Amino acid sequence: MRPKLKVLLASPRGFCAGVDRAIQIVEKAIAKYGAPVYVRHEIVHNRHVVERLRAVGAVFVEELEECPDDRPVVFSAHGVPKSVPSEAVRRNMIYLDATCPLVSKVHVEAGRHFDAGREIVLIGHSGHPEVVGTMGQLPPGAVTLIQTVEEAEAFTPRDPANLAFVTQTTLSLEDTAEMVEALRRRFPGISAPHKEDICYATTNRQEAVKALAERCDLLLVVGARNSSNSVRLVEVGLRAGAKQARLVDEAANIDWSWFDGVETLGLTAGASAPEVLVQGVLASLSECYSIEIEEIATRQETVTFKLPRAIAAAAE
Ligand code: SF4
Repeated sequence: MRPKLKVLLASPRGFCAGVDRAIQIVEKAIAKYGAPVYVRHEIVHNRHVVERLRAVGAVFVEELEECPDDRPVVFSAHGVPKSVPSEAVRRNMIYLDATCPLVSKVHVEAGRHFDAGREIVLIGHSGHPEVVGTMGQLPPGAVTLIQTVEEAEAFTPRDPANLAFVTQTTLSLEDTAEMVEALRRRFPGISAPHKEDICYATTNRQEAVKALAERCDLLLVVGARNSSNSVRLVEVGLRAGAKQARLVDEAANIDWSWFDGVETLGLTAGASAPEVLVQGVLASLSECYSIEIEEIATRQETVTFKLPRAIAAAAE
């Protein structure tokens, strides 16, 4: 007799519309132009996705200078500094921008604040490609990165009356709210985004985790270590009451010692993790346990993003 395990399956989980669009752009670019198609940076932060695309002709590089002039290049969903497409144009390259439209929205917002003469605060994580891309929309010094409440408290603007903030799209709602609260208290006139910069997918996945965390002896988040929204799901789950929370790339990375004393497991996936990996975890669980799955659905997602016109018609 296998022991019983209750599995609370979060919904929504896994792929978001921006990730889905970015992957389709690479697939359609290969269909239209043939292999190889170069991709600057991991198209989305998931090894499984990257390996699958590599097998059909994508070549992943970190910088544009690693790409030949005569092959198409795709820019990742996280966005790129303005200098990158400018360089592609200078080299007369074919490029496809897979930047998520919700990241582009933040770029546009930052540009508007800059044009209006405001100093811009970006709430985000240093070194994340989205932060590099957003800061790279504007000249050096135009954007100040803030990563903690302490930094928000210590920040000294050039002109406190002429400030705006934008945020990375994949942050923890609570952590960001604390930093925004500190900025608003110190600079009541600070301009805020018209609509929340933290994207719908990040918000919905965090909401779904909060709905099940309290019941979990263990929460498993399927996602990559460099996936910001996946790492945030672990933090949000712990904060919302999960006894332990772990990030796993896939079933093979599960350490079964985590399951000692676990009767109820929460399961979700970051926005860049494909559903096949979640199903792989469920299959592994079924080998050791008699599992009973309860889906905890907090929201239906219907968001889709259009593909660039240049490749929309290409077969996958
Ligand atoms: S997580 Fe949000 S911002 Fe990032 S690709 Fe998905 S929808 Fe776009």
